[in-house]
Amino acid sequence: MTNPKLSVKKGIIFIPLIAGVCAFCAGFFWLISQADNQMQIKKSKSLAAKALVNQQDAVLKTQAMINSHIFEVPPQFQGQTVGQVKLNEQNKVIALTFDDGPAPKYTEQILHILKQNNIKATFFCVGEMVHYFPVIAKLEVSDGHAIGNHTWHHWYHWMNPSTAKLEIESTATQMYETMGVKTSLFRPPFGSLSNGVADYAKKNNYAILMWSDDSQDYRRPPVSKLIDNVLRGAKPGGMVLMHDGGGNRANTVKALPEIINALRKRGYRFVTVPELLEIQR
Ligand SMILES: [Zn+2]
Repeated sequence: MTNPKLSVKKGIIFIPLIAGVCAFCAGFFWLISQADNQMQIKKSKSLAAKALVNQQDAVLKTQAMINSHIFEVPPQFQGQTVGQVKLNEQNKVIALTFDDGPAPKYTEQILHILKQNNIKATFFCVGEMVHYFPVIAKLEVSDGHAIGNHTWHHWYHWMNPSTAKLEIESTATQMYETMGVKTSLFRPPFGSLSNGVADYAKKNNYAILMWSDDSQDYRRPPVSKLIDNVLRGAKPGGMVLMHDGGGNRANTVKALPEIINALRKRGYRFVTVPELLEIQR
């Protein structure tokens, strides 16, 4: 028969013992989970710090490029065709690009808007236009924008290798003589990758910069449609295609402040194309 007094005594001993073991276990697991949390926080802090260092590094490198007017691309983009860079949804950076200038009136108006908003953009210049409008071309550089090569004549038709070479090299020479610029950024006129010009650019280590967000301003849509086109196509790491030359760009000029405001409200920061490529590096 069980002695009831003994059972009570056992209870007195075991209950605190079990409670003690439970408390120890709970404390142990709490410590482990805290350590795990700390490790996760440390890991995410170090990833965020790394991303920040990469971005600061990119800004410093591209700042040096802008000061020296040399626009190079990281090795993995040399000879490659790029429409956008892959960034996560939180990394809201976007590049505004303007083609076919420098052009009287519109380029200067766009430069003014960019300056008011403290934004650096990328201008893909036509060699012939740099030749005719050197003062405007110089303004693009002195305002700190990045510059790319957009051929001399902006031709669409197929070109043999020597013509393709001339289209790019004569523009490069003109940009160097007028603006002091050396660039590895190239955008093919009409985005054509098959008329011989992009082939020459690739062989000479230019990055072939396309776009991910087409304003379609060359179709001259109403201002509201133009704004809508850009906002619908906007994404982190994207490149927005607009034009400062090649025709009447009054609607592009009108739309630009609204585009900038709307993208800023969505949390976007504006960078040049070389900066974008450096961030992805
Ligand atoms: Zn063009």
